[in-house]
Amino acid sequence: MSQILSGMEIIHNYINGSLVAAKGGALLQNINPALGSSYSQLPDSDASDVHTASEAAQQAFKAWSHMPTQKRTAILLRIADLIDRDLDKLAMAECVDQGKPLKLAKAVDIPRASANMRFFAMAAEHFASESHLMEGEAINYTTRTPVGVGGCISPWNLPLYLFTWKIAPALATGCTVVAKPSELTPMTAFLFSKLCMEAGLPAGVLNIVHGLGSQVGQAIVSHPDIKAISFTGGTVTGRTIAATAAPLFKKLSLELGGKNPNLIFADCDFENAVSTSIHSSFSNQGEICLCGSRILVERSLYPKFVDEFVKRAKALKVGDPLDDQTRVGALVSEAHMKKVLSYIDLAKQEGGTVLCGGDRIIVPGRCAGGFFVEPTVIVGLDQYCRTNQEEIFGPVVTVAPFDSEEEAIKDANSNSYGLSTTLWTQNLTRAHRVAHQIKSGIIWINCWLLRDLRTPFGGMKQSGVGREGGWEAMRFFTEAKNVCIKL
Ligand code: NDP
Repeated sequence: MSQILSGMEIIHNYINGSLVAAKGGALLQNINPALGSSYSQLPDSDASDVHTASEAAQQAFKAWSHMPTQKRTAILLRIADLIDRDLDKLAMAECVDQGKPLKLAKAVDIPRASANMRFFAMAAEHFASESHLMEGEAINYTTRTPVGVGGCISPWNLPLYLFTWKIAPALATGCTVVAKPSELTPMTAFLFSKLCMEAGLPAGVLNIVHGLGSQVGQAIVSHPDIKAISFTGGTVTGRTIAATAAPLFKKLSLELGGKNPNLIFADCDFENAVSTSIHSSFSNQGEICLCGSRILVERSLYPKFVDEFVKRAKALKVGDPLDDQTRVGALVSEAHMKKVLSYIDLAKQEGGTVLCGGDRIIVPGRCAGGFFVEPTVIVGLDQYCRTNQEEIFGPVVTVAPFDSEEEAIKDANSNSYGLSTTLWTQNLTRAHRVAHQIKSGIIWINCWLLRDLRTPFGGMKQSGVGREGGWEAMRFFTEAKNVCIKL
């Protein structure tokens, strides 16, 4: 653990069962965002490393896809157990790499990574062929076979959590994988590769290539032998990936950005609505695609809600991610911090009033060089200004009143994103009625981030294409073949 904190551990690619440097030997610096300084290095890989990884994955495919399901499942379950065994070490690595509070990494990120492995390992044992009888005429059966080599590309906000969310279903269906974590947060993917080796995952089944999106990511997406791309990241990157993959007729799953509304009706359970809204606004520094960054409150409740929400936002402790009391850690990078601060400036230019926060914080002591921004609450903006239309992805929310259910629905849908919506009301009929009219892939009523891994996960509009989770993910990594037999 101390090596992760202080040492200059060099991260390696995981290709064909071995830990190797990039062929060109180049390295990138890995920054600890809470300190603002480099603490390790990672391979600056390129297309030739991706090609070697893809060849290894193709070679491993036959044996892995033909392995009895129970045997594959056993290996994936072993990996899950090893993640649990190394919970403290992995949580520390995630905290140092990403800037999130250690407490959060321990409670959410790492347990979810092992849950992903376990869930899809077991799903493989229940994933069955379908059969359709045409009475007196024919019987159809539909087999599902793994697509081949899958490409999995993940972002920096929930590093191991989202990395395993893609890799686990791919491996469970019998695909082999070439994967790339974000170059901003590569450490837990590196530690994960060591766990895969320890668990006895055969060489070439999973290959992890570190480096830049424009080099490694692009090479994965354009490689002719990588048949399916599962991507989570920004909408702009998603558009580039779609443009590259479409002419190659690759299967594509895109989980993209969000600008999620949080609708609060006057008849809500107030305490629950306020305390959960604090979480849904500022957890992980607001760097969760599901955070509710546009809070819309029924006018009669608006003054009371704003007072209480601002009071609690001000009370959140921003600081050293290793401190148990910290609720808001560092943003992932200096560039991202500048982007977030520039949106706060934009909000002011657009006529918004900052009720709390609005600035960078210099945390005294070892974190003085870190990238910290105060939880920020802005009012006085309409839903069509850039602040309310574009994803900020930081600890910044706007709050605005609405006068009717129709207006709340219109405001919620006023955006080009459609990932998730949270809805607070005690009126069951209204809850169903509003949920039905909201254009989001995920709706939470009187809760937030309550996840059942069997449910479809993903967004509408510019928040993505396709769904992950449960059978959706198992189907994504497989090809259907229907066989019709005349009776
Ligand atoms: P990016 O789109 O910048 O990057 C995501 C991944 O794609 C990174 O590994 C990146 O590498 C890589 N990449 C970049 N360019 C290319 C390319 N041309 N071809 C292939 N891969 C490429 O997103 P962020 O990492 O900044 O993550 C934040 C975004 O992710 C937010 O918009 C957030 O909403 C979204 N997100 C969506 C979720 C969802 O489920 N819908 C969940 C979590 C986050 P590199 O790091 O080197 O640039």
